[in-house]
Amino acid sequence: MSTIIIKIGGGKGIDPTRVAGEIASLVASGERVVLVHGGSHETNELAEALGHPTQTITSPSGHTSRRTDRRTLDIFNMAYCGRVNKAVVESLRRRGADAVGLSGLDAGIWIGTRKSAIRAVEDGRTVLIRDDLSGKVDRVDTDFLNTLLGSGRVPVLTPPAVTPDGIAINVDADRAAAATAAALGADELLLLSNVPALLRDPSDPDSRIEQVNASTIEAARSAARGRMKNKVLAAEEAIVGGVTRVVIASAAREHAIAAARAGEGTVFTSTRAEVNA
Ligand code: ADP
Repeated sequence: MSTIIIKIGGGKGIDPTRVAGEIASLVASGERVVLVHGGSHETNELAEALGHPTQTITSPSGHTSRRTDRRTLDIFNMAYCGRVNKAVVESLRRRGADAVGLSGLDAGIWIGTRKSAIRAVEDGRTVLIRDDLSGKVDRVDTDFLNTLLGSGRVPVLTPPAVTPDGIAINVDADRAAAATAAALGADELLLLSNVPALLRDPSDPDSRIEQVNASTIEAARSAARGRMKNKVLAAEEAIVGGVTRVVIASAAREHAIAAARAGEGTVFTSTRAEVNA
């Protein structure tokens, strides 16, 4: 019996309910599965419709993130914890899987730190943003997750996370999934997205990087641009945290989970050198 964490992106064109059939089969055959999902596209659409459009922050090192003021967090919750989470739970339950929809805020599953200030590059100048409700997961409380998994249920997890003093924070779902995989001692983490793999050239879908290990991690880091940087970071964090195998693969194909597990994507594996890096 293995533990598999599957993270499915929330980008345009990705339908997280498409993997429901495969997940239900895995669970029926006795695997322990946690599904983590995003909701960025739904959030952007809802934010636009509600007259509070998305603002993207770019850090000096090129990482991009959502500017999360209080109103944005409300809209974020409506999309991630409401619309997307319930659609995923419904599709799993329809296929016979006992899915339980939760955010990282519920039961304090994802405990994190709020950023006190964010450096953002605006018109070539670096500015400091102090009131942002975003941060990063430091610790995963596995008690409740293990109780659910032990009774054959499928936790369906989504941001936000929560600080120790109870403030909801927007966190990156890829890195939260990596922390969850490490904390649960998972065998595999699948990061399914709208691209077939980590690509050497992001504009060329045939330029797949097949394997990443200690000797190729630098090349992988430098190939990743924008939001792909978080996925590579998440893959590294999971491997360092003891997860045996991480695969970045397509969510937009038939049998996406089986294909990812068969290595059709970018496969990160552990080596001694990486663990010591
Ligand atoms: P999700 O919402 O599914 O988590 P993201 O949109 O956050 O996915 O990240 C995937 C995006 O990263 C791709 O759509 C692509 O535009 C971008 N990207 C940047 N660099 C690369 C790369 N080297 N290989 C693949 N995709 C890349």
